[in-house]
Amino acid sequence: MSESAWREKIATLGRSMFQRGLTFGSSGNISVKVSDGWLMTPTNVALGDIDPARISKLDAAGKHLSGDAPTKEAMLHLAMYRERPNAAAVVHLHSTHSVAVSALSHIDPEDVLPPITAYYVMRVGRLPLVPYYPPGDQALAEAVGKLAGKHHALLLANHGPVVAGTSLEAAAGAIEELEETAKLYLMLQGQRVKILSPEQVAALRERYPS
Ligand SMILES: [Zn+2]
Repeated sequence: MSESAWREKIATLGRSMFQRGLTFGSSGNISVKVSDGWLMTPTNVALGDIDPARISKLDAAGKHLSGDAPTKEAMLHLAMYRERPNAAAVVHLHSTHSVAVSALSHIDPEDVLPPITAYYVMRVGRLPLVPYYPPGDQALAEAVGKLAGKHHALLLANHGPVVAGTSLEAAAGAIEELEETAKLYLMLQGQRVKILSPEQVAALRERYPS
């Protein structure tokens, strides 16, 4: 796919996510790997209002080459790619329900959300919590790097999810599944819930290895 087609695709996905309330203000960012580096959404622009021509281009070392300055969270994306050589795209959102869950005191930091549905298990799997650091802090990128080798989906405490995928569709599909599962989890608080059993989860993992 040509670089200009990727630019259009990023802008279209950003607009779709913004319109569906998955992100707001100028929060959230999207990147894709191209042959000679990365394309990344710029800083201080709403995902609903991305101009394809102004999307940031970074070289293979992560240096800004052209377009507007990249998101201040570029380090997050680069940490995911560094640990996941097969990653083709990374999406990061401040989606409301995921952020709400990331601020709960009783969650398991090793695996934040329970297996409520099969699609959650198939698209997200295990979801570790990355300890809180200020956005853009090098320590946050390091903490993400420590977990990214084993997990394509991470939840940043009091901040939001970051998900890598082997395609832009896979990354977007997984982060949307994560957000919807966070919403379900919050809806089910205080209810008696039957989640998938360890056997059901194991059968899904065997059938759909991530
Ligand atoms: Zn963020």
